[in-house]
Amino acid sequence: MDFSLTEEHIMIRDAARDFARTELLPGVIERDEKQHFPAELVKKMGDLGFLGIMVDPKYGGSGMDAISYVLVMEELSKIDASASVIVSVNNSLVCYGLEAYGNEEQKQKYLTKLATGEFVGAFCLSEPEAGSDATSQATTAIDNGDHYVLNGTKNWITNGGRSDVYLVIAQTDRSKGHRGINAFIVEKGMPGFEIGPKEDKLGIRGSDTHTLQFNDVKVPKENRIGEDGFGFKFAMKTLSGGRIGIAAQALGIASGAYELALKYSKERKAFGTEICNHQAIAFKLADMYTEIDAARHLVMKAAWDKDQGNNYDRSSAMAKLYASKVAMEHTVEAVQIHGGNGFVKEYHVERLMRDAKITQIYEGTSEIQKIVISRSLIKE
Ligand SMILES: Cc1cc2nc3c(=O)[nH]c(=O)nc-3n(C[C@H](O)[C@H](O)[C@H](O)COP(=O)(O)OP(=O)(O)OC[C@H]3O[C@@H](n4cnc5c(N)ncnc54)[C@H](O)[C@@H]3O)c2cc1C
Repeated sequence: MDFSLTEEHIMIRDAARDFARTELLPGVIERDEKQHFPAELVKKMGDLGFLGIMVDPKYGGSGMDAISYVLVMEELSKIDASASVIVSVNNSLVCYGLEAYGNEEQKQKYLTKLATGEFVGAFCLSEPEAGSDATSQATTAIDNGDHYVLNGTKNWITNGGRSDVYLVIAQTDRSKGHRGINAFIVEKGMPGFEIGPKEDKLGIRGSDTHTLQFNDVKVPKENRIGEDGFGFKFAMKTLSGGRIGIAAQALGIASGAYELALKYSKERKAFGTEICNHQAIAFKLADMYTEIDAARHLVMKAAWDKDQGNNYDRSSAMAKLYASKVAMEHTVEAVQIHGGNGFVKEYHVERLMRDAKITQIYEGTSEIQKIVISRSLIKE
């Protein structure tokens, strides 16, 4: 067993760390406050190859592995989880979905632009009445010869108002249940496709979350991904990899909060000594470090499973379940270690605490991860 990183891994991790500190950090409080989508920074992340990390260079990607991807996600998320969710959705839901299951024309037309950051992508599964229960799709895509007619509503869509390409899941044949579901590539500006208002969120406020409306949108047949009826499997397979990205996001939020708490505890004095010398604080740091490192091992194991071609449904669910719990618990502790300063924006930990919560909700809630894990155990 070899836990060491390769030179290439260290290089990309350091590039992401440097970018996060020099480019993401300066405006992060303001973007959070104003719910400002970091369009210029997304462009720069595209230039650095962060938007298509695992995509084959022949489609404009960086051609790196899933370990590299989680290293980038952790570093970006330490500073700005709103920026990292853009990276996560684009890489592991949109680019991966197209590269693994799209045909050559779709890859040439869309993936080449998504991998370089020329385009941003969105993944549209959730609906007002279909969240955890994603099989209850009310959005319909009716076969009409050379095109499908798409009708329905998607909600909570990350990059919703800022994307060029939307992967949309819809029901084509209700009599076939989830085997009658398809996935489609929908382009911004197709007639009948409307973007609803932006959500005002607790956390990841710099990310752009919208409800989308499809009113008789004509989607060409060649925009269907995979065989007829493949859409639900497409969504589940893609989300499995997405969970590795969100687990890494949670890990980054937790480790970012830990780093701030450690530094603060070595500077702040109370009762004549730095607060890290009080055992109550020192033990919090020990628990944080230990559990964050345990989360990191789960995240790395899931990424390694993906790189090895192993099934990663269970390991990605475990990584997301645990890393998101650690992120939530330890960002609260980081606020506590900062005392009153933890409660104000300037010290960053209150934002990390708010950002942590979403990692227990999207791409499958923690309860859904437990269903995935327990089912896979019982099936064995
Ligand atoms: C900021 C943000 C960004 C998002 N981005 C996207 C995106 O880009 N694309 C997209 O498609 N979706 C996105 N989502 C949607 C997200 O994936 C869903 O919110 C999530 O899957 C939960 O669905 P729901 O909100 O309908 O909750 P519900 O499914 O209604 O769940 C409510 C509660 O019931 C629990 N529950 C439900 N079923 C069970 C069960 N069988 N057993 C035990 N407990 C259960 C849940 O765990 C949860 O605690 C985003 C959401 C948010 C908030």
